[in-house]
Amino acid sequence: MSAEKRSDSKLPNVGTTIFTRMSRLAEEHQAINLAQGFPEFDCTPELKRMVENSMSSGKNQYAPMAGIMPLREAISEKVLKSYYRQYHPETEITITSGATEALYTAITASVRPGDEVIVFEPAYDSYVPAIELNGGIPVFITLDPQYQSVDWNEVRSKITSKTKAIIINTPHNPTGNVWMQADMQQLALLAEKHDLTVISDEVYEHIIFDGRIHISTASIPALAERTFLCGSFGKTFHITGWKTGYCMAPAAMTAEFRKIHQYLVFSVATPFQYAIAEYLQKPEHYTALSAFYQNKRDLFNEAIAGTGFIFRPSQGSFFQNVSYQNLSDDKDVAVAERLTAEAGVASIPVSSFYSKDVDYKVLRFCFAKNDDTLLRAAEQLYRFVWN
Ligand code: PMP
Ligand code: GLN
Repeated sequence: MSAEKRSDSKLPNVGTTIFTRMSRLAEEHQAINLAQGFPEFDCTPELKRMVENSMSSGKNQYAPMAGIMPLREAISEKVLKSYYRQYHPETEITITSGATEALYTAITASVRPGDEVIVFEPAYDSYVPAIELNGGIPVFITLDPQYQSVDWNEVRSKITSKTKAIIINTPHNPTGNVWMQADMQQLALLAEKHDLTVISDEVYEHIIFDGRIHISTASIPALAERTFLCGSFGKTFHITGWKTGYCMAPAAMTAEFRKIHQYLVFSVATPFQYAIAEYLQKPEHYTALSAFYQNKRDLFNEAIAGTGFIFRPSQGSFFQNVSYQNLSDDKDVAVAERLTAEAGVASIPVSSFYSKDVDYKVLRFCFAKNDDTLLRAAEQLYRFVWN
């Protein structure tokens, strides 16, 4: 068999992710990287000390497959306090290698060949390949990147006898939209009626603005009983590089989830788990996170006010979408590349979050950066001459 035949792609349409490509381009041009979503600042020294202590006290061998019990207990307590649902640490919580693994494993546990999965796009880039690798068929609800609300009649019209699951993400990457109670109620009604599995990506649960409240699937019993809730500590504690997350689901669903998790990664880095379990006892960090990021959003948005970009303030996440429709007719990939090379500011073209070719003329900027970086980026965008 030839090497080509041997590497006959299961994902023929997938290349290197846009996050990697734009980060590389930013480096090449020494541009300010507001593209890939990660904080420019470090986690707290206290959390680092906790990892060091875990390592020096010998917590360096395999963790239990489902995660260390103190971390599962700490998550269970936090979720009970925040969303009033008790997930049993023994049978309903699994520590994962970031939310990415949680999502992949949840999709793999749910989707069989020929199953349809409802995906709202723009969508985070890992959902669709995970569905396709499992032989599933993504069925898209296409939203404008500046969308105001979901048309639930459209969602209803896309559900067939083959629909197995629905993937949701609030606060949302890349739009920064936040679903309110009414959307969650609609989702609960549909999921119950059609017996759908819900895969809920809630990695930005603590980054939500202007007094909004995160409505977790955990807080709605009709959803919690059919949902794989995927979370991450990466966004919450400024530790995206630690790749630690979790999945919560009812015991029978978790049992299936763990069958896959145990062969995908078996278990997750032990010293990080001990450190996070300890740090979770101090809610001051994550309860202050929304205000911290809202200040950054406001600083950035005020600074780009005169640039000609059109935008609605992000409602949550650490992303701000802007439309350049008054500034250029070019497609977003070309504009993002040009701004990286010529204005020295990298962003993500929002078309990368769609399955089809779209032309909304919207870029995503990540404002999880130091204030002076955001101001410098805004200044460079301000000075950039279009044409
Ligand atoms: N979901 C969304 C919406 C994200 O933005 C990200 C990463 N930024 C992830 C999942 C993956 O999280 P992790 O880094 O914990 O794998
Ligand atoms: N989630 C991050 C973003 O949206 C990137 C993660 C990655 O690089 N895969 O920018």
